[in-house]
Amino acid sequence: MNVKLHRKEKIHTDLLIVGAGPAGLAAALAAASAAEKPGLQIDIVDDNISSGGQIWRGGAHEQKDARARDCWNSLINLSNVRFHFQSKVVHSRSSPTGSTVLLENRNGAQDFHAKKMILATGARELFLPFPGWTLPGVSGAGGLQALAKNAYPVQGKRIVVAGTGPLLMAVAASLIERGAVVTHILEQSTHLNLAQFALSLLATPSKISQGIKLGLTLRKIHYHANSYVLSAHGTQKLQHIRAHINGRVQEIACDFLACGYHLIPNTELAAGMGCALDESSNHPRVEVNQWQETSLEHVYCAGEGTGVGGVDLALVEGEIAGLAATGQIKQAQALFNRRSHWKKFSARLEKYFHLRSELRHLSQADTLVCRCEDVRYDQLQDQSDWRSAKLHTRCGMGACQGRICGAACSHLFAWTKDAARLPFSATRIASLLEDTHTDSV
Ligand SMILES: Cc1cc2nc3c(=O)[nH]c(=O)nc-3n(C[C@H](O)[C@H](O)[C@H](O)COP(=O)(O)OP(=O)(O)OC[C@H]3O[C@@H](n4cnc5c(N)ncnc54)[C@H](O)[C@@H]3O)c2cc1C
Repeated sequence: MNVKLHRKEKIHTDLLIVGAGPAGLAAALAAASAAEKPGLQIDIVDDNISSGGQIWRGGAHEQKDARARDCWNSLINLSNVRFHFQSKVVHSRSSPTGSTVLLENRNGAQDFHAKKMILATGARELFLPFPGWTLPGVSGAGGLQALAKNAYPVQGKRIVVAGTGPLLMAVAASLIERGAVVTHILEQSTHLNLAQFALSLLATPSKISQGIKLGLTLRKIHYHANSYVLSAHGTQKLQHIRAHINGRVQEIACDFLACGYHLIPNTELAAGMGCALDESSNHPRVEVNQWQETSLEHVYCAGEGTGVGGVDLALVEGEIAGLAATGQIKQAQALFNRRSHWKKFSARLEKYFHLRSELRHLSQADTLVCRCEDVRYDQLQDQSDWRSAKLHTRCGMGACQGRICGAACSHLFAWTKDAARLPFSATRIASLLEDTHTDSV
């Protein structure tokens, strides 16, 4: 059946930035400084209700970090910069003249045509399944932090923060700030790795002062290296966990467990558009050249999508992408040293918080791995790869489209996830019908 649909007029823009986290904001500000292009139109879209991404959640203007406030205050006064919040990119195609993007928000859908695009879509947490991980009260580490930042009540609640990486300390500190009683931090990395990481911070003095501040906030908390959660227990909701704490198994009573095993780049949008990915490690990242340009001409990527490295790396990558995308080559080049400095920090994070092999063997036969489609661990054990798992068990075919279980399976079984499919996320049929690519149904 051929249906001709009425569409909203397409919006044309010079530069479309996806993601208003540190990388996206820095990119917008750098692009806006292209003095020789005063009429340059910049559009920034983000599915959150305000700017800031993960680390500056709640709005860049509200943060203690002056870089966030400065960035926001400069951008908000520019007439050629438009923000589109609560809007997600659900479909995008690239051509030699630019990219066509379908944006969905609660009022409907909107087509964009962008001469250039910067993807600054950030990262998400890696969840590894263990018995009881689907109990109410168990969440990601950054996940609980995000809920608490959005007024979810944690006051007086006993919380165990577990997983790996410096993020655990940041999460614990922000939960404490909101009145929670963080009883333990369980870090899977070894004492030796942590000591080496601490020593390596001499190369990044700003991280030492951050670490000291966090250490003071967390001074009364039991911080255990070489420790990880074995299982979570409770009848209706979480009541206690069993954990391997430096060689001994211990039970800890708690109301919440916030558990995340580092971050993985969000590559779906880039992959769906056809950008090449670097698949040399368990979790792919978007491949970029020195200008942060992807394998697609006119499409750039900055921030955690190119590899997880923290806010400082996201900021400088964003700046380089914004400058390069607007032809400010010399200014971009001047930032290369700063980028390589933070890339080294990123490499140290990867090295010292490498996940231990025991974490692959926590699931029992009946542990759910895909919680959208209720697929158990024993159903997956006999599958040869991700495709076979999908076809035989529906693993990864639910609402999250494998964003959670796909990454877990990469880690548990060393499977490579399929290429991203369009649309990138659950989308209203009406939006797709409005899309220029799909007007024939
Ligand atoms: C849950 C979580 C909590 C974290 N907490 C901390 C912390 O406390 N301290 C710390 O130092 N670091 C924290 N980090 C790490 C931190 O995210 C990074 O260091 C930094 O924010 C990276 O910036 P970014 O701009 O690359 O990505 P992000 O800040 O993640 O921003 C990406 C933005 O893109 C948007 N987006 C993605 N896809 C689409 C799409 N298709 N359409 C529209 N919008 C889209 C997202 O909504 C998001 O706002 C956290 C990370 C996560 C995942």
